[in-house]
Amino acid sequence: MNQSNKKILDFIKNSGVNYYLQDTPRNWFLNTSNSSFKSTRENKDKNKKLLKVVEKIKSHKTSLRDSAKNLVVYDGSLDSKVMFIGEAPGRDEDNQGLPFVGRAGQLLNKMLAAINLKREEVYITNVVNWRPADNRTPTDEEILEFLPFLQEQIDIVDPDFIFLLGGVAAKAILSTPLSLSKLRGTWHNYQSLQLNKTIYTIASYHPAFLLRSPQYKKASWEDLKMLQKKLNDKK
Ligand code: URA
Repeated sequence: MNQSNKKILDFIKNSGVNYYLQDTPRNWFLNTSNSSFKSTRENKDKNKKLLKVVEKIKSHKTSLRDSAKNLVVYDGSLDSKVMFIGEAPGRDEDNQGLPFVGRAGQLLNKMLAAINLKREEVYITNVVNWRPADNRTPTDEEILEFLPFLQEQIDIVDPDFIFLLGGVAAKAILSTPLSLSKLRGTWHNYQSLQLNKTIYTIASYHPAFLLRSPQYKKASWEDLKMLQKKLNDKK
């Protein structure tokens, strides 16, 4: 085992991941009115489970929370077969309590529209649920700290496809520090611990990166088309 793997494993062992996964009942008032998600009979159960995860994230003590205004967990549909995972909320997301509502979010909406998906039809979340101060990149420890919550969301939504937006999401879900240039353009498998299935996963560029470096939009488009093809094949 190389030294950095050992460090990560030691961190997991000592971090109390089990503690984070436990229910810690509290009488939080859950304000989900921000979300565009509408409850129907079929997804009521998923909604209930997800509210419990939101509750757990709220009661999880983390220094990230000190500088953030609002918790940001998800937007979109719990019944979606596709999940988009970003990095962490930025300023607009922190103000509104919803993921991907700023400039990067507007580009994400356009990327979805390009493959005939609407924002309301997919599940959108982030690796970390509080805005890191000054928009810094979440540390490996912070990624691991929030990973159990993300894994629980995947298990509840039960998607067939995961689209990872950027290196932090790729690191969290594919457990690798490899760069996106090495990871993109091919399908990976995410094996859920709870669901007895493998989820097709693709890692591609983050919309905020694409805004800064539009020359990567062509590659991003190729990745989106890979997802569109799989979705069409499933129909
Ligand atoms: N960048 C992210 O990774 N997530 C958001 O919600 C917004 C910007």
